[in-house]
Amino acid sequence: MRILDYFQPATVEEAIEDLCKSPHTTKILAGGTDLIIQLREGKLAPEYIIDLGYIAELRGIAEKDGTLVIGSMTTYTVIENDPLIRKYMPLLALAASSVGSPQIRNTGTIGGNLANAATAADSIPALLALEAKVVLTSGRGEREVAVGDLLIGSNKTNIASDEILTYIVIPLPPSFTYGTFVKLGRRKALAIARLNLGLTVNLKDNGELGKVTLAVGAVGASAYRVVQVEKLLEGQKVTSELFTAAGKLLAQVVADKLGSRPTAAYKKTISKAAFKRAIAKIGTECGRW
Ligand SMILES: Cc1cc2nc3c(=O)[nH]c(=O)nc-3n(C[C@H](O)[C@H](O)[C@H](O)COP(=O)(O)OP(=O)(O)OC[C@H]3O[C@@H](n4cnc5c(N)ncnc54)[C@H](O)[C@@H]3O)c2cc1C
Repeated sequence: MRILDYFQPATVEEAIEDLCKSPHTTKILAGGTDLIIQLREGKLAPEYIIDLGYIAELRGIAEKDGTLVIGSMTTYTVIENDPLIRKYMPLLALAASSVGSPQIRNTGTIGGNLANAATAADSIPALLALEAKVVLTSGRGEREVAVGDLLIGSNKTNIASDEILTYIVIPLPPSFTYGTFVKLGRRKALAIARLNLGLTVNLKDNGELGKVTLAVGAVGASAYRVVQVEKLLEGQKVTSELFTAAGKLLAQVVADKLGSRPTAAYKKTISKAAFKRAIAKIGTECGRW
């Protein structure tokens, strides 16, 4: 590994200027919890590093025009404890609290988790269930991309080499929307997810289910929305049979996605269990089942 230069821009504009000089041989450094390991293992050999750690505008969470805007350099610890996140989208706080260890949560960023796009990344199912978008900034301007369209495979995204992921924009969920996040791993702390799941359920006055969003990770190259289950649930009266059918359908979708992979049978079983756990958590929170 031979790094020729290391930049510490103080603004996004400066970072873009630095990146424009040689985008294909430059790597962005956020918290470094993925990147430094990849550099040490020789999986990457960039000539230039741009450290986003000094750009204050990329840190923090703000409410704006019916959305929450999260700077890409915001750490899990900040997300986990932020009053706006806890009020409007506690499932993202839960996802953040499930990541690694306190040291990783103090250093690792939500932007880094998205850009690294690991199969088991914990923020991603939560962000998919919340219908989040990301803002990508380059010398050509800004573009907004839905998180689902950003992911194109394990550790692969649509972020161009001259773009920086600057913000995550999440619409505020409508009233009477409940959400949760479930992570199943080999142990309770410092575990890579065997499966992670984000679920939101909107409840109508008449007792029927309104809009449902369900996303799963670590059960395919990239996390994904499970629209088949969402459609099964939406507009239905709540019954235990309905939730059992939804869990079975999720298990089938996961099994089909994994095909002949050795983990398929195991993940089929745990996806049903994770859904059951998620729907029970939401039931306790809303007091309707
Ligand atoms: C011990 C340990 C435990 C972990 N546990 C978990 C876990 O439980 N769950 C989980 O999901 N992850 C876990 N991780 C992985 C890691 O901590 C997260 O993926 C973290 O969010 C990465 O963010 P970062 O700020 O450290 O990114 P970095 O390592 O700095 O960057 C990661 C990648 O994203 C790119 N990048 C970063 N920011 C941007 C940006 N703004 N724009 C464009 N590209 C960018 C970098 O160039 C690099 O390719 C763990 C890692 C370790 C070492």
